[in-house]
Amino acid sequence: MSSRRRLGVRGNNKEIEMARKRHSDKGHHRPDKKYVEKTRSQTSSGEWWKPDAKHKNQIRVMPAWDDRGICIVRRVMHFGFEEGGRNRAFPCLEDNEPWMDSIPCPVDHVIAKMVKGDKDERSAASDLKASSARFLVQIVDCNDIEAGVQKWAGPLSFGKYFLSLLEDDDIEDITDPEDGYDIYFEMSGSGRGTKYDYRLRAKSSPIAYDDWEEDLDDLLETIEIRDTEELIELLVENYGNAFDIKEYLEDFEGETEKKGKKKKKAREKDEEDEEKTPAQKRKARRAAKAAAEEEEKKKVEEPGEEEWTAEEILAMNKRKLLKVVKDEELPIEDEDWDSAKELRELIMDELNIKEEDVPF
Ligand SMILES: [Zn+2]
Repeated sequence: MSSRRRLGVRGNNKEIEMARKRHSDKGHHRPDKKYVEKTRSQTSSGEWWKPDAKHKNQIRVMPAWDDRGICIVRRVMHFGFEEGGRNRAFPCLEDNEPWMDSIPCPVDHVIAKMVKGDKDERSAASDLKASSARFLVQIVDCNDIEAGVQKWAGPLSFGKYFLSLLEDDDIEDITDPEDGYDIYFEMSGSGRGTKYDYRLRAKSSPIAYDDWEEDLDDLLETIEIRDTEELIELLVENYGNAFDIKEYLEDFEGETEKKGKKKKKAREKDEEDEEKTPAQKRKARRAAKAAAEEEEKKKVEEPGEEEWTAEEILAMNKRKLLKVVKDEELPIEDEDWDSAKELRELIMDELNIKEEDVPF
């Protein structure tokens, strides 16, 4: 017993000695310049709100974009990709938002191989390593109202705090545009040790920025997701010269397994069809036709089939306008317009709502 403990102590001392040696060789672990550059270009895009580290922040989290009720999104990103001269990050497929299907992530698979490799491999692995979870919300900064609705990738502490407010039955809907609540928070410390101290404003208030609805985006649309195949392609493009990505992925089962399952299902379906007698097939076709006719009847009755009036279109915010584009299948792309006003004009053009109908 005592000898075993002594052995353990000796082992620890040896480790400490080796660690000291590492430090004395290099002085200390210097930041990897390439990594710093990459991280900066990800964070300085200007798209994201940054809290004030020195003063009290006051923010209001915006309500959900639509009736799915999603006003906060968790994401874990893989950095370390470059595409079209830009540094990019994409969501991990395995450790992801609850609304995505969790499937094996090829990036994690490659990282697991790289960390066991040489210095270059380990460095690449640290570039690709998934970030800690961030919680994406849309906010109005009450100290900078004119900046409008901004996106914030809040830390885990914010995610926990905000979700607990949403879950608390004693607290009204804090995202209510008229009667919701602002959140105060202060930051202390720096880097990984940064602490956030959150507090709910005791008094409810309307959102301070009047045109918030015009600015609001679909949170889910702000995250570009690449699927397994696309991520593998990126890995090969970005790291394929230095490393044998295909070899790392030789025993990666995520994609192949999924495809196999799909094929099997399709085969089973074919077999089912073959087993049907001609009479059964006719019956199935009649049922399908009746269902289609029923669907057609429903469509005519739905108010969506009625024509839009100029007043209705004029009263719509960006979100409702986009719904019209989708429902009416209008050939209007996101690139075609910069403001809700322009979008409104395009829609009225497409729907043949004439100028004279428009009171402006
Ligand atoms: Zn991943």
